[in-house]
Amino acid sequence: MKRIVILGSTGSIGVSTLDVIARHAARFEVIALTARHNAQKLAEQCAKFRPRYAVMLDVRGAQQVRDRLREGGIATEVLSSAADLERVVALDEVDMVMAAIVGAAGLRAVLAAARAGKTILLANKEALVMSGPLFIRTVEKSGAVLLPIDSEHNAVFQALPAGFERDFGLEKAGVRKIILTASGGPFRLTPVEQLHIVTPEQACAHPNWVMGRKISVDSATMMNKGLEVIEARWLFNALASQIEVLVHPQSIVHSMVEYCDGSVIAQMGNPDMRTPIACALAYPGRFEAGVAPLNLAAVGRLDFEALDIRRFPCVTLAYQALEQGGTAATVLNAANEIAVEAFLDRRVAFTAIAEIVERVLDATPLSNMDTLDDVHAADGLARANAMQALRAVA
Ligand code: NAD
Ligand code: MG
Repeated sequence: MKRIVILGSTGSIGVSTLDVIARHAARFEVIALTARHNAQKLAEQCAKFRPRYAVMLDVRGAQQVRDRLREGGIATEVLSSAADLERVVALDEVDMVMAAIVGAAGLRAVLAAARAGKTILLANKEALVMSGPLFIRTVEKSGAVLLPIDSEHNAVFQALPAGFERDFGLEKAGVRKIILTASGGPFRLTPVEQLHIVTPEQACAHPNWVMGRKISVDSATMMNKGLEVIEARWLFNALASQIEVLVHPQSIVHSMVEYCDGSVIAQMGNPDMRTPIACALAYPGRFEAGVAPLNLAAVGRLDFEALDIRRFPCVTLAYQALEQGGTAATVLNAANEIAVEAFLDRRVAFTAIAEIVERVLDATPLSNMDTLDDVHAADGLARANAMQALRAVA
């Protein structure tokens, strides 16, 4: 029996995680479910999975959840502070934490899980991107286990030698490079001169995946791939030069590992996040995920093409932040979060996202990343600079 906390249970990844858990109810006990708002959905999830705790950060929403659960005679204790998120992940009775909050908001809770030595199923890539070296040091110190949920990193995890150790290094494992595949998103073929007029609805209509709005916009700018390059750097102790991006529009090959003998191991499957989620939930075993079998005859062909860096400047900005080191990735992530939110609110054009991130990277002094205070300082400064950049480009 594995005892699990799901951070961000009402989101796209949270819902898929509960779908997989429901298929293996006897193997899991849900200790806590958490969300920012959407009281109705959280209450429904509590009624079905009967967690000991629910955390709803919106205070009024928390009261609604409490009322609904009381009416239904369900004993879940409903909490509502950010400190409660850190408390529930660190409880002694918790084995696993699914980190599926979106953005920098997830950092404190994920780090609390890392400090407590839990098995972390990491979907919340922004937390790792913004705090890379600190995050990894915390994991190594406590003996926490990090299992990647992002489909590309889960694919790499599956294609690496079993038991690959981060500090052992890729080269000693015979790996030449990691090839992260990218669908190219909804604007792969849109004429570049039309990109400034695309809408949030168009940006969120991903051709292959159904996801939350923030990551959907990141996929459209391909900042998502940039964040994933940085994520791969920390998860697999890879150099920037060992990580390559390859466009693959069908999203069937989720990523690949190239070995020094010329072998390339790819992981394939239908684009359904329940596969990487089930892989991590069952690790080191395997179990049913509810995903339709891959029918390659029906897929017919798999295409690959080089990345068009003129169309997708965010990928270059992410590599640049990786080279700069220190707090550069923190700054990149914070600027991107502000810019994406502004685009979703129709305050700036789609093409302004990369422009804002570039301006903020240029304007924000970088520092070393020794403590969590360094991360928060860089994040705060970058957000303030991004607000200024917003006014400049709007
Ligand atoms: P989502 O927007 O659908 O869900 C986000 C969840 O986090 C919700 O439960 C929400 O209530 C909660 N949340 C939002 N803001 C919060 C805050 N300030 N404090 C606490 N909780 C908050 O997002 P998603 O698509 O499920 O993505 C979650 C994470 O997983 C992201 O980091 C994303 O990059 C990553 N990811 C998602 C997918 C996917 O297919 N959706 C794939 C790979 C990686
Ligand atoms: Mg991904």
